[in-house]
Amino acid sequence: MDDAARCPCLSGLPYGECCGPLHSGARAAGTAEALMRSRYSAFAVGDAPHLLQTWHPTTRPASLSLDESQQWRRLDVLATRGGGPFDDDGEVEFVATFRSGAGSSVRGRLHERGQLHEVSRFVREGGRWFYVDGDVAG
Ligand SMILES: [Zn+2]
Repeated sequence: MDDAARCPCLSGLPYGECCGPLHSGARAAGTAEALMRSRYSAFAVGDAPHLLQTWHPTTRPASLSLDESQQWRRLDVLATRGGGPFDDDGEVEFVATFRSGAGSSVRGRLHERGQLHEVSRFVREGGRWFYVDGDVAG
């Protein structure tokens, strides 16, 4: 992904100043929301290693394969609880909007639009934020 392009998390910043350095490992997320945004962007750019590295070891899947036909179009962060630089845990409520592409056409659902509304839980250990799990809301 081009560092100068608009970050997929729609922060308004270029990728190279937002989620890019988190994906490359140049910088760790300072807040739960920043980690949540970087994980959303990782789905958008197909960065499975970043998703696994930021998943808490107790809930992390052994492997992860991303559905390349699923295009992540929009992220709206609705609310955060905790998750700041001086917190050890936090929650982020968000809606992620996606479009299923050609992969769904076999089931006759070409370009279906969907939304994921989730409250995600995060913990901070050793100075790093990790995604623990989430509840589908709404
Ligand atoms: Zn971003």
